Amino acid sequence: MKKGKPLKRGGPLKAKTPLKANKPLQAKTPLKSNSQLSSNKPLQSNKQLRPRSAKAQQLYKEKRIPLVKKLLTERPWCEACPIYAEHDNRQFFRVQPSCDLHEIKSRGRTGGIHSEEWLDEANIMCVCRGCHRRITDNPKEAEALGLLKPSGLDK
Ligand SMILES: [Zn+2]
Repeated sequence: MKKGKPLKRGGPLKAKTPLKANKPLQAKTPLKSNSQLSSNKPLQSNKQLRPRSAKAQQLYKEKRIPLVKKLLTERPWCEACPIYAEHDNRQFFRVQPSCDLHEIKSRGRTGGIHSEEWLDEANIMCVCRGCHRRITDNPKEAEALGLLKPSGLDK
């Protein structure tokens, strides 16, 4: 327990029911031996829990990262910049280099990393950070522009 404010006590503590004499505590299942409990893998980090499971982590490393690299190489310019420029009636605009992958059907709307969309190039747009933020911050607008699949329409 962290030190913080001292607990307030309204009055003296009272037991509502008298304490019962008890049988000694018993474990329902016998404790496992230490060798079963300990993992043979060392802990990766004690700083924070990893949000991804080891399997997802591996999938990420083997499938997703190469895909990210490949797509950003093949599609080096933001695919949303021209769409937003047209939407904003900006005749002159500079297309920014793409640096993020945006999923048109977002992971929350598909099966996440266990779905095909996650690795489906057709579901992915290569976008710059600014456009990515705009899509995230203005999902309704992004849906209207076809940059985002509205939830509930698929499947
Ligand atoms: Zn852009």
